[in-house]
Amino acid sequence: MTEARNRVEVALPLPIHGTFTYGVEGALPLPGTRVLVPFRRTERIGWVVGAGGDAPVKGLRSVLAVLDRRPTVPPDIVELCRWMADYYVTPLGIALRSALPSVLSDVSRDYLTWLGGDDRLRLGLKPRARRLADALMDGSGARRVATLRRTLGMGSIWPEIRALEACGLIGHETVPPSEPAVRTRRVVRVARTIGTLQERDELFGRAGRQREAYELLEAAGGTSELSHLTGAERFSRSVVAALEEKGLVTVVEEERMRDPFSEDTPIEPHRHTPSEAQRAALARLVAALDAPAPAPFVLQGVTGSGKTLVYIELLREALRRGRSAIVLVPEIALTPQTVSRFRAHFGDEVAVLHSGLSDGERYDAWRLLRAGERRVAVGARSALFAPLTDLGVVVVDEEHDGSYKQSEAPRYQARDLAVVRAAAHGAVCVLGSATPSLESRYNVESGKFERLLLPERVGGARLPVVRVLDLRTGRKGKEGPRGSSAQAPGPGAPDTRSGASPPPGAQRVFAPELVEAVRLRLQRREQVILLLNRRGYSSFVQCRECGEVERCENCSISLTYHRVARRIMCHHCRFEAPAPSRCPRCGSGDLSFRGLGTEQVERVAGEVFPDARVARMDVDTTSGKWAHQRILDRVERHEVDILLGTQMIAKGLDFPRVTLVGVVNADVGIHLPDFRASERTFQLLAQVAGRAGRGALGGEVLIQTSMPEHYAVRAALTHDYEGFARRELEERRKPAYPPHVRLANIVVSSPDQELAAQAAQEAARWLSKALRGAPGAAAAGVELVGPAPAPIERLHGRWRWHFLLRAERAGPLGAAATLLLTRYRLPSGDVRIALDRDPVALL
Ligand code: ADP
Ligand code: ZN
Ligand code: ZN
Repeated sequence: MTEARNRVEVALPLPIHGTFTYGVEGALPLPGTRVLVPFRRTERIGWVVGAGGDAPVKGLRSVLAVLDRRPTVPPDIVELCRWMADYYVTPLGIALRSALPSVLSDVSRDYLTWLGGDDRLRLGLKPRARRLADALMDGSGARRVATLRRTLGMGSIWPEIRALEACGLIGHETVPPSEPAVRTRRVVRVARTIGTLQERDELFGRAGRQREAYELLEAAGGTSELSHLTGAERFSRSVVAALEEKGLVTVVEEERMRDPFSEDTPIEPHRHTPSEAQRAALARLVAALDAPAPAPFVLQGVTGSGKTLVYIELLREALRRGRSAIVLVPEIALTPQTVSRFRAHFGDEVAVLHSGLSDGERYDAWRLLRAGERRVAVGARSALFAPLTDLGVVVVDEEHDGSYKQSEAPRYQARDLAVVRAAAHGAVCVLGSATPSLESRYNVESGKFERLLLPERVGGARLPVVRVLDLRTGRKGKEGPRGSSAQAPGPGAPDTRSGASPPPGAQRVFAPELVEAVRLRLQRREQVILLLNRRGYSSFVQCRECGEVERCENCSISLTYHRVARRIMCHHCRFEAPAPSRCPRCGSGDLSFRGLGTEQVERVAGEVFPDARVARMDVDTTSGKWAHQRILDRVERHEVDILLGTQMIAKGLDFPRVTLVGVVNADVGIHLPDFRASERTFQLLAQVAGRAGRGALGGEVLIQTSMPEHYAVRAALTHDYEGFARRELEERRKPAYPPHVRLANIVVSSPDQELAAQAAQEAARWLSKALRGAPGAAAAGVELVGPAPAPIERLHGRWRWHFLLRAERAGPLGAAATLLLTRYRLPSGDVRIALDRDPVALL
């Protein structure tokens, strides 16, 4: 064998830093081409990312097969991933895998078909190739490579596949998994609504589980999958049967909901005349389209100022110039209205990439974009990697949203990558928000970004009046802290309901002013949104005798009581157990269920407003693929009077009949030991307030809080983004936090508490020494803070210690992070190190 073999550099999706060199026969495959390579004792799919060097490599192995004739991954995506891998200190293969449809990195999706042809070709084959040919020839259609390998038992057959392909005897294709054949599912649907509480009591009597199941259905907008009720919610089939018997619900076989974004007839596009401010912003953006290297824009427009119309008109201009566009939205399930607007205007040009797509559908959408048959990609975070050519516009809507940060490796911030990708194409990048992140604001101040303002709501609507209701005064002389009922408020608890005046205890949840305000809206047949950013019924269970709080087995987190499921659950690792009736430590039966959650608010709302149709939207009511959509559709059709939920209901919704927003408790999250706690609180309040009064009816917002003086709350009262930003930027000066400095959070974890602590200390020591000795001043100015136990000390059964790298500039910080991750060797044992650059939270 000659040593003149070509070499390629291959990125593999493995948690190993660096790329791998392989030999390859024949022409050098281009970057972005997928190859199958031997790795240790298995085969893996990797991507060619360049030519290999010519330094001698010991035991150089060869590429088994070149899987694509043309590179599947466009070169600019390879480059973007390279940037991402360097910046976030992640292996390039991991970066590529997270950017591409999963089908493309799945080894088991390769199929061969027999094409036949001249039989003399077959007869002239070498024995191994001949065996493969014979196996394929028997005419049973496409065969999976993985299966063939097993049945033939001749080891890797890729050299033979290539030989057969080269002489045209077989075809080779990567095929996505096929759709499940079954297209129906069983759905339980409310058949009869129960008007009064009294009727409810009579109907259910002591049948607590039936009542719970029925009320869960109500909360979920009237329907739920049977499998969800009997599975996650743990209702027995007989409970559902009893409800059926009573005529309260029906169980029907329903066709699986079709992808709502692929409907043939999208909604009619609105054709508004742009306001003066919209026109001015648009003029600036369109001008930038024709500039060679436009700076990124921050489109800062109050809620309801019509930012979407600006995006749409900008896209129209880009398409007219033959260019393509990407629109990122926080979570597609929560923003169906925004997505339909794009579909309404651009119809078949749009590919909607959302989490409800199967692997095959996602791959199809990706191929349509790659082929240029769709020129607008709309989707969450990962839509940023849409394979579009001649990119003209990248929009990041609600750019402040936390979901733009990926929480596992490569832990990228899509907002930042959007800027990088746009710059590479000379495209216009628009970051839109009513409450821009402090990072973006900082970039505006330093002149890196250009700001465009939409200071008023469109169509004559005004920002709602916001008032605060002080929970402390409301509680004076009352029965103590909220949620302190003496018993598990389960089905056995005595009913304290009465007809007219709010039941006692309700005041712990709703102040009288809020009750009045809701009643007024119900009378006027308007709609109400109630926010509480905490799910479950009670956020913890505490023993009154000994003070014990029920905690997760795997995490240092208290367990949340879920009344419907009658269980206590960990919201981090999903550990769950039956709700306790006695203290596990001292055996006392005197338990208190404390900390208000959405389930409890729902129950109390049902008691205080018995005639209102209430829907609850949180993680527990939205388990099905299209569950969000179903609930929001019902709100849109005004089949719901009160929509209550967690932060899910604060984003992007545009319902003109919503005239009141109530925040049940603004303090949730404000005390978290995290430097962004105030910013998140302000953003959440401002965003949810923005759902009120978007139509001609006007709006009002009532915020319940025990911290009315907190600057995040005060700024929300007057819609004062500027005031908030100024104050918050001051708060982050000492100690210094982003955006004044750059951060990386390094978390060292182990099931062994001692080992985690030791490893973290050793890693930090190693790094500070290495930085001192670093040649030149590569990592100068990098400060090391910690190590210390992480605020959440234990998670998923692992003890966690962390330390921070802090620097004025990104370059040195990156150098220090790379040094640590690529050079430092962890002590032996089960220890992991994870780096989170530009973290959104330090928990
Ligand atoms: P934002 O995203 O800024 O909160 P939206 O883009 O959702 O606001 O727009 C709010 C509402 O105003 C939408 O229903 C939209 O159709 C409408 N709208 C947008 N521009 C105009 C305009 N120039 N005149 C009247 N209505 C408009
Ligand atoms: Zn106890
Ligand atoms: Zn847990």
